[in-house]
Amino acid sequence: MDQLLYLLEGNEAEYLRDRAWAVRSRIYGNAVYIRGLIEFTNHCRNNCYYCGIRRGNSHAVRYRLSDEEIMECCHLGYGLGYRTFVLQGGEDPYYTDNRICKLIKSIRDKFPDCAITLSIGEKNRESYQRYFEAGADRYLLRHETADMTHYGKLHPPELSLSNRMECLRNLKEIGYQVGAGFMVGSPGQTARTLYKDLQFLRELDPHMVGIGPFIPQHDTPFGNCAAGKAEMTVTLLAIVRLLLPHVLLPATTALGTIEHQGRERGLLAGANVIMPNLSPKGVRKKYTLYDNKICTGEEAAEGLEGLKKSVEGIGCKIVCDRGDYRL
Ligand code: SAH
Repeated sequence: MDQLLYLLEGNEAEYLRDRAWAVRSRIYGNAVYIRGLIEFTNHCRNNCYYCGIRRGNSHAVRYRLSDEEIMECCHLGYGLGYRTFVLQGGEDPYYTDNRICKLIKSIRDKFPDCAITLSIGEKNRESYQRYFEAGADRYLLRHETADMTHYGKLHPPELSLSNRMECLRNLKEIGYQVGAGFMVGSPGQTARTLYKDLQFLRELDPHMVGIGPFIPQHDTPFGNCAAGKAEMTVTLLAIVRLLLPHVLLPATTALGTIEHQGRERGLLAGANVIMPNLSPKGVRKKYTLYDNKICTGEEAAEGLEGLKKSVEGIGCKIVCDRGDYRL
């Protein structure tokens, strides 16, 4: 705990980043995997205090993509070289298990060489099982914080850390490649809660860990809170790389949003995944988890050429394959 605090204060930052870079290189070489992110609905039945698409945000302009639009995104992404599609959305009751399974099957049929990742929140075990059987390979469900009191500060009472953890365990048992993770600098976060996050990650041993700074969204209860720091986010990426050497670790859009070249800094500290936005341009601004989200330049799927160059500039290389977890 004292050691973590010492590192979080920015001590030994360069050493930490160099070690993380070396460990990533040993396991994945200089490869950076790309995932096409399709934000297919911003309707949500939940009311998380930090999130701009929370149910209670009456200013959010809601949308859903049709199956055809989603398939069109995949088609476009495939042409650009993407071999993983991430379907992310709010917890939208319109998408029943039948609808989700139908969608997964269509993508599976049309793009058999691609990985399908879901990020659609908490479901019961049977639903997760059905999606898996329909052809989904991976599931992203950040635990958000491993401290129960902190969890209660970020979420309304109907959401619980124990259920979140139960979901993650179920996903893993079913056979998904599973992603957990948390925001950096979320209101109420301390070195102690972060310590618990790291302990939890070590126990869960997920295949992926999503870590990005908290960024306020002006129509949420946390609209006036301070954003997380890029420096600390990068430090935590490096720590997680050292803790879980084989993990797939995205340099997130949120990190790129709070700092110019933020994602490149993440890659330099052990990250090895980037998730460009593959949603139709017209809806990108509506998927406003937080303010000022970058989504039209090199961080977007069609900006791949520019991204390739900037990634090469720091000694990495974008790889166009599924980018599965390596044992
Ligand atoms: N509904 C899905 C997907 C959520 S959006 C789910 O429950 O998993 C994906 C992630 O965005 C969330 O897990 C959260 O960690 C992050 N996020 C939400 N609001 C944010 C904010 N204001 N700043 C930074 N990240 C945010």
